[in-house]
Amino acid sequence: MAAALLASGALPRAQSRSRVVMLGTGTPNADPDRYGPAVAVVVDDTSYLVDFGVGVVRRAAAAERSGIKALAATKLTRAFATHLHSDHTLGLADLILTPWILERPTPLTLYGPRGLRAMTDHLIAAYADDLRIRTRGGEPRHQHDPRAVSVHEIGPGIVYRDERVTVTAFAVMHGAWERAFGYRFQTPDRTIVISGDTGPESHIEDQCRRCDVLVHEVYSESGFAKRPPEWQAYHARYHTSTRQLGAIATRAQPGLLVLYHQLIWSSTEEELLKEVRATYDGKVVSAHDLDVY
Ligand SMILES: [Zn+2]
Ligand SMILES: [Zn+2]
Repeated sequence: MAAALLASGALPRAQSRSRVVMLGTGTPNADPDRYGPAVAVVVDDTSYLVDFGVGVVRRAAAAERSGIKALAATKLTRAFATHLHSDHTLGLADLILTPWILERPTPLTLYGPRGLRAMTDHLIAAYADDLRIRTRGGEPRHQHDPRAVSVHEIGPGIVYRDERVTVTAFAVMHGAWERAFGYRFQTPDRTIVISGDTGPESHIEDQCRRCDVLVHEVYSESGFAKRPPEWQAYHARYHTSTRQLGAIATRAQPGLLVLYHQLIWSSTEEELLKEVRATYDGKVVSAHDLDVY
């Protein structure tokens, strides 16, 4: 495995059937080291994506190259959107089109809040000329019609089940968004909870009662203190501070708390972890792209 995959210090047990792969840990900020938000839950040889930020297919290809075969482009067939903020969805055209060109055998299936179908339809319409040329302009015949994306606009509750996972969506408070979700994955050997973007009032602890892995967004309190007041008002309403997250994790008691979508600003990652540890004494790591838990 590549160094990035070993850097986390919290690799799953060797016999574990389920892994959490941090494809992108970024935010809207154009940080070249952190691609757009995207997390893959991998169970055996099957992958389930949560969000599809910028670069999702190439990050999945990097994970595949490091040994996680379930993240080959042609195996990206299911994705769950937390909400429709652009940083979480900028990779949707990529996810629809790139694996299709690479001969994904089945159409893409999406789950997410209301509005996801319209976004999908608009993107397909935007690429009408590309689709026409690729299907009738001389490329070898593709396996399916790329327009055949199956979109499920969901509410809270169990939204997906197969022989490997049960996926439960739960509503989170994310500022003015009417519909934003986190997801809980119950696999044969682990319970994995992914917060999506959320303020501190979402009762994530009810979803993760001693769950194995809690992947949670966070912003730095010390970085926040130096932000302009109008941005402070925004962040406080839409996101969760280090101290607030420490309190949430203390109630939730996850086996491992994974920080992602870190808004650090002028602070540092070391400071970010220190701030979480001020109110939480469990195991916590600050994720980087391509870390595996
Ligand atoms: Zn975001
Ligand atoms: Zn958001």
